[in-house]
Amino acid sequence: MSEAVEAVRYAIIGAGVSGLAFAAALQDRDYLVLERDDAIGGYCKTVAQDGFTWDYSGHFFHFRRPAIEAWLRDRMPGEEILTVQKSAKIYYGDRWIDFPFQKNIHQLPQAELLACLHDLYFRDAAKPVSTFQEMLISRFGEAICEKFLIPYNEKLYACDLNDLDADAMGRFFPHAELGEIIANFRQADNASYNATFTYPRGGAIQYVRALYSAVEPSQVCTGDGVVAIDAGRRTLRTASGRVVRYERLITSAPFDRLMGMLGRPVDPAIFSSNKVHVYNLGFDAKGPEGVHWLYVPQRERCFYRVGFYDNIFNDPRMSLYVEVGARTGDAIDDGALQARVMEDLRACGIVTDQRLVSRHSVTLDPAYVHVRAAARERFAALERTLQAWGIYPVGRYGAWTYCSIEDNIAEAWELAGRFNAFKQEG
Ligand SMILES: Cc1cc2nc3c(=O)[nH]c(=O)nc-3n(C[C@H](O)[C@H](O)[C@H](O)COP(=O)(O)OP(=O)(O)OC[C@H]3O[C@@H](n4cnc5c(N)ncnc54)[C@H](O)[C@@H]3O)c2cc1C
Repeated sequence: MSEAVEAVRYAIIGAGVSGLAFAAALQDRDYLVLERDDAIGGYCKTVAQDGFTWDYSGHFFHFRRPAIEAWLRDRMPGEEILTVQKSAKIYYGDRWIDFPFQKNIHQLPQAELLACLHDLYFRDAAKPVSTFQEMLISRFGEAICEKFLIPYNEKLYACDLNDLDADAMGRFFPHAELGEIIANFRQADNASYNATFTYPRGGAIQYVRALYSAVEPSQVCTGDGVVAIDAGRRTLRTASGRVVRYERLITSAPFDRLMGMLGRPVDPAIFSSNKVHVYNLGFDAKGPEGVHWLYVPQRERCFYRVGFYDNIFNDPRMSLYVEVGARTGDAIDDGALQARVMEDLRACGIVTDQRLVSRHSVTLDPAYVHVRAAARERFAALERTLQAWGIYPVGRYGAWTYCSIEDNIAEAWELAGRFNAFKQEG
């Protein structure tokens, strides 16, 4: 007996920001969104538990395109959206100094300031660089790198920084020239791409719901992931055995997994990434005030960053997200790591006598892809082949890149716009 095959013009893998943004903008309503998880949202899901509101990890919004923000807000009636002036600090032994480190070395003990200034002044800025670590040293000198930039980023990316491109963080890296660093000694100017951010009181999922409001709910199927794709026949198979024929496949699944589903696995040494294990922790009393993020470069502390939701919401109980970077293959013992996290939170003076009353944890895998030339070149070549087959990878993991949620929306809308234009012409 031949199996039943459904047909759709657009199959979309993933009901995260990218998949939903694409479906929302597509004029052709003949689409089907297939989502492996039981809920929409991807990494922008929100957990509401015991009076705490947590995302899968801190997800904050820095819109550069007013039209995208306005479109979302129009679809969020009644939702309070907080606008917050970021306060980011670095845990540095006996003191918390302002972020970014390289612009606030004057807040270090004098001997360390002198070491940083010396190495900054005598750095070899003209030296050609090809890796992220070489870029850091040539721009900021050894001391700033050894004290913060290298250990912090090694904890975050869980890899050798010489394995990453010089421009691995793109616009998200806080560059600073010598003159700006010195000027900051007198007049603080720590402005960055995310100096002000917005956050809905109901969590990041509210922005996802705004996208979802423009999507046909009956055409979003959750709890059934795509497991195999036949590029020649333009069909896909789901875990439940559904077979769907498509004309175009838009996919936000991680690129390496996509290639696996196509039976063409990519080299994991080129397409590598880290994973981030996130603890959301709710306490019975307030902790440190006036800080939204704390960066923790010390190698002996297991986390690289701690975020304070309570200081964003102005809540009376401490509500944290704690991010631990790990290599993809590393085993994580959730209970043992949480005990270590609590110990390190005490060592940093964040937890004193507060009692933990609620917790949640999740692993984001992949979390940060390792941006390197070999992966970019291979991706570009494979993307051309995929497009010839009607397959379009989108999103932070689909396109194997480092970008923001807003970038995901802009990219998905741009792709939908191209198909909308074809349709109008045809
Ligand atoms: C630790 C961390 C912090 C971040 N903080 C911020 C921030 O503050 N601000 C910001 O702008 N961005 C932030 N980001 C980036 C942001 O999370 C991403 O840009 C965004 O969520 C990507 O959306 P997406 O839809 O492309 O991918 P995802 O959110 O990963 O969605 C993809 C969806 O596809 C589904 N899927 C995968 N495989 C299959 C399959 N085979 N079949 C069916 N479904 C499948 C998944 O279940 C998922 O729902 C952060 C990321 C991380 C890791």
